[in-house]
Amino acid sequence: MNRKMILCFVVMCLLAFSLQIAFAAEAPNKLPNIKILATGGTIAGAGVTSTTTVGYTAAVTPVGKLISNVPELAKVANVSGEQVSQIASESMTMEIWLQLAKRVNQLLAQDDVDGIVITHGTDTLEETAYFLDLVVKSEKPVVLVGSMRPGTAMSADGPLNLYRAVILAGTKEAAGKGVMVMLNDTINAGREVTKTITDRVDTFQAPIIGALGVFTGDQPVFYRKSLRKNTTETEFDVTNLKSLPRVDIVYHYAGNAGTMIDAATNAGAKGIVHAGTGDGSIGKQEYPAIENALKNGVVVVRSARVGSGIIARNGEADDDKYGFIASDNLNPQKARILLMLALTKTTDVKEIQRMFWEY
Ligand code: ASP
Repeated sequence: MNRKMILCFVVMCLLAFSLQIAFAAEAPNKLPNIKILATGGTIAGAGVTSTTTVGYTAAVTPVGKLISNVPELAKVANVSGEQVSQIASESMTMEIWLQLAKRVNQLLAQDDVDGIVITHGTDTLEETAYFLDLVVKSEKPVVLVGSMRPGTAMSADGPLNLYRAVILAGTKEAAGKGVMVMLNDTINAGREVTKTITDRVDTFQAPIIGALGVFTGDQPVFYRKSLRKNTTETEFDVTNLKSLPRVDIVYHYAGNAGTMIDAATNAGAKGIVHAGTGDGSIGKQEYPAIENALKNGVVVVRSARVGSGIIARNGEADDDKYGFIASDNLNPQKARILLMLALTKTTDVKEIQRMFWEY
């Protein structure tokens, strides 16, 4: 080797070395940081055999195992988990809601958290989603996910739902869309979605309005945005809340004479959501119980048991005369959530009606 060749070799080595350094500096880990908060449900459920899709036990798999069961998550996000509760969601409590909401707000205030996924049972998933939609104080994505089949079942839907929920929570376009629900290839708004079928994977629907978007492969595609105020735009704040006012739902049916309205009033309810027939109608025989509730300072919201549609104010009942609130298109379980939060601010029925038009 002559001197020229040696020089050339040294220059090439130096070049290769500096290129390597430059490449390493330009290629940091660009994956989003996603926190998974686990609450239980069928997505954490286990059955005796692979064909057990009923009669399984919900809420047994811990969050660490939910994550390690889907190693593909590591390709789309830096994922870490926390166990908030381990319950079937029919046993959800207001205490857990407050704890969950406070934790979500804490985490989203951190620079090193880009989005949150909450694993949840499907029975009350829509309620937790709407509650968070009203009290989360961040535009970063929050996605609720569940499954209709336990993790041990043939064709379990949980792993793919979780994988996509994590992708969604790490997607820039998902920011500012309110709290979302991700199951069965479909992205829905927490305010609008409801469980419509007892036992099918396509159970989550937003009646009349439709989904926000869908997944195609690993790609979320949005088609619209909910126009109702949510998250950072709401007036609700859970920071110092230790409990929520009691609000009961009373279901109307032919022959109902108001017994359950009296029961709610006597139990100390601050609000009652009337799940009326049709367009929120109230039976003649219920009125004495309702008037007694109003006299006792209970705030009454008219919703409907039919599952979709708007309650026409002053339509099936004289809302102005009685001081009722029409629930807009919120189903009874969602109207209850908004009424609970409204009652943390005011008992003025005009103000509460304004909130029902806004949220
Ligand atoms: N009962 C279960 C729950 O809500 C159902 C489910 O997760 O699909 O926790």
